[in-house]
Amino acid sequence: MIEISGALGALSATVGALKVALAARDEAKIDAAISDLKERLFDLQAANLHVVEELHASQTKLHALIGERDQLKSKLRERGLYALANLAKPPSEFWAYRYQGDEGAADGSTASVHYLCQACFDNDRKTVLRRDESQFGSYYACTVCKTDFHI
Ligand SMILES: [Zn+2]
Repeated sequence: MIEISGALGALSATVGALKVALAARDEAKIDAAISDLKERLFDLQAANLHVVEELHASQTKLHALIGERDQLKSKLRERGLYALANLAKPPSEFWAYRYQGDEGAADGSTASVHYLCQACFDNDRKTVLRRDESQFGSYYACTVCKTDFHI
């Protein structure tokens, strides 16, 4: 593939040859230079098309990266709304992500305190732990990964 600068250099040399042929009024050299000029213009168009294709591919990649960045920013913001908390009485441990509040919510909404399953959240799944009662007392349970813990 011919680069733009190479194609421009060849085109410039061809124009120079054409000028020489015109000054000499040599019809054969003029015809040859015009023919060569057409080839150089074709090469330049091909090089230009290649650059346009590369630009399009770069723009497509840029848009994909912007989308990925936005998803990561959203995910990071979501993560910032929760902090690990031990729901068990020490020395026992049962860790979950406790909702910290969202003062920056665009719609001004506020959600009540709730807990997300730590195992699910670490695997990009947002599952609210269900608190319930049984004959053995209170417990938290995840309806997705089936983790449960009596408190
Ligand atoms: Zn879970």
